[in-house]
Amino acid sequence: CGIVAAVSGGNVLPHLVQGLQRLEYRGYDSCGVALHAAGGLQRSRSTARVAELRAQVQADGLSAGTGIAHTRWATHGAPAEHNAHPHFSHGPGPLDAAAQRPARVALVHNGIIENHEELRAELQAQGYAFASQTDTEVIVHLVDALYQGDLLAAVRAALARLHGAYAIAVLHAAEPQRVVGARAGSPLVLGVGGGETEGGTTQPQQPHYLASDAMALAGVTDQIVYLAEGDVVDLQLGRYRIFDRSGQPLAAAERPLRTVQ
Ligand code: GLU
Repeated sequence: CGIVAAVSGGNVLPHLVQGLQRLEYRGYDSCGVALHAAGGLQRSRSTARVAELRAQVQADGLSAGTGIAHTRWATHGAPAEHNAHPHFSHGPGPLDAAAQRPARVALVHNGIIENHEELRAELQAQGYAFASQTDTEVIVHLVDALYQGDLLAAVRAALARLHGAYAIAVLHAAEPQRVVGARAGSPLVLGVGGGETEGGTTQPQQPHYLASDAMALAGVTDQIVYLAEGDVVDLQLGRYRIFDRSGQPLAAAERPLRTVQ
């Protein structure tokens, strides 16, 4: 339903939650956020209002420079906290043990994966245990299974296996200042922040954002790149790269930055 993601030198949590609140009017059944916190990937999910999620993450004292957030409109799997995004992969192994292992991949998804049953059977045969009834969870385990040290390469390899519609944003525990996004059949935009001042000092590196709608970034940035069908985007601290569906890197002129009102 709704996606917001960010890579920044400052704390992204207020921007992520504010973005979800701007998307709230569309309706959703649950919401959640995952962050690269000091101790690794951390997550908070709720079937209540985004305001409750905000209170929950504030109570947990979560803060991070990189994160992804989601409002869900269930298509596969009942509206419930365990089906809410972000979904995690802890790698192959039984679920009860998985809860003890640190998460390796976190992912949010809008859309529907048509071949999720076939992919689930394949991943289960590789030892992945599923924590939800969503179609989405196959993507997070697929990225984990295909990861060889480069999140962009792993996401690309995973996308090649998917049939259906998606906008996604993905984090890997080993790459704390990176978000990889992609779209096919669902909208996704990139936002480029200014050198915001925090505590009187200007951030040397521009923060970068992803959102399913530019409106989610209102108040954060008005500098937007509209991604095209099949685009894959690699956000890192202070820089971004966009690739077309064939994996070709795109020049800035091909995906121009626009100022939105
Ligand atoms: N198909 C996914 C799910 O049911 C994503 C739904 C959405 O776009 O919010 O979890």
